[in-house]
Amino acid sequence: MKFQVPRGTRDILPGEVERWQWLEERTRAVQALYGYREVRTPFFEATDLFVRSVGEATDIVRKELYTFEDRKGRSLTLRPEGTAPLVRAYLESPALRAESPARLYYMGPMFRYERPQAGRYRQFWQIGSELLGSAKPEADAEMIDLFRAILADVGLRDVTVLLNSLGDTVCRPRYREAIRAYFKQHEDRLCGDCKERLETNPLRILDCKVPSCAPVIAGAPSVLDSLCPECAEHFEGVKRALTALDIRYEVAPRLVRGLDYYTRTVFEIHAANLGAQNAVGGGGRYDQLVKDFGGPDTPAIGFSIGMERLLLAVGEESWPGPAKPDVCVIALEPGAVLEAQALARALRGLAQEPSRRRALVALVDTAGRSANAQMKWASRVQARWAVFVPPGAEGYAVRDMTKGLDEERQPSIEALRGWLSERRDAVEAVRG
Ligand code: AMP
Repeated sequence: MKFQVPRGTRDILPGEVERWQWLEERTRAVQALYGYREVRTPFFEATDLFVRSVGEATDIVRKELYTFEDRKGRSLTLRPEGTAPLVRAYLESPALRAESPARLYYMGPMFRYERPQAGRYRQFWQIGSELLGSAKPEADAEMIDLFRAILADVGLRDVTVLLNSLGDTVCRPRYREAIRAYFKQHEDRLCGDCKERLETNPLRILDCKVPSCAPVIAGAPSVLDSLCPECAEHFEGVKRALTALDIRYEVAPRLVRGLDYYTRTVFEIHAANLGAQNAVGGGGRYDQLVKDFGGPDTPAIGFSIGMERLLLAVGEESWPGPAKPDVCVIALEPGAVLEAQALARALRGLAQEPSRRRALVALVDTAGRSANAQMKWASRVQARWAVFVPPGAEGYAVRDMTKGLDEERQPSIEALRGWLSERRDAVEAVRG
């Protein structure tokens, strides 16, 4: 083989892609119920957009960006995350800025040069929601509620909400220094990466998974003890609002996230069955980001869900399975192929009926197979019915492929469409 899919990426093929489509449709529907509207930004942006928002000292910016120069020498980067592009789009659009708060979401691939492993890819998909223009704890609660609603709607209920506050521009720098001083005392027990983080990004040490760092991390001062009164009150407000919505959470004082723009609330949702990579997604407040991008003071909060992880966590039970063809039209003799094609088109019903209520998924053989081989193919693709052309004196013969039974003949194409679509609808009504 000459070419292979690039390392850390994968093809999503029929058989699997239907699960993705199902997830996408359900997610869109839930977002719509909460009043969130989709924004589609480009897959690449000016490199600086990510450096300035995600943060120069983060792993994402230091090690994981796919950066390239275009033909005019501009530095561009494949987006590693969706918030910074969305904030950029928000600031460029007067219509979006006029909405306050603005409720927006995105869905699409992100790119990070990470070490591939189970549940970790170099191109992966995220669904993310953002609420721009409210600092209120109720906005935080709405976000976490929406996140959970998306998971619950696809059948994932066994989840844990982890909640923390990182403070704001007043108390966070104080905590940063406190924790740097603490880890400095224990520097000799930290791993190489953490020694480096001590200078660049001491908060990230809390997130280190190297076992030898664990005891040092366990003794570190808690961010919650160093919150200023306003941040502490905000955090209490978030907890109150979650309780009022009947959302259980665990306070996780060691929870920090891999992006620098977060302030105050951060959260993650974990699924019990995911193993090491158990965060389905996470998010937090970014009250300074819009201002940092040159916009007005606009407190905001968002989250993103990893779609690969979500599909892994959901498993096979919840989704209805790929759609199967309703009909295969079988040409009984080679001369009937064109008639078969025309009949299949009529059964699809696109021209007759824009509402598509009675549209049938109709396939026809275009590979010149014998009538026998066409029947085998119809069972292989699991068609519900076979219809035969040319029609006999009493009309179109129909066979129920699931039972191997011949049904009553249908005198005309219209009658055939009506007969098939009624029975198809009855099956779908039962399936829900
Ligand atoms: P982050 O943008 O880093 O906060 O990640 C949010 C979510 O995206 C994570 O909880 C994962 O579910 C997912 N995610 C992040 N990085 C990857 C990756 N390299 N491969 C697959 N999923 C990822």
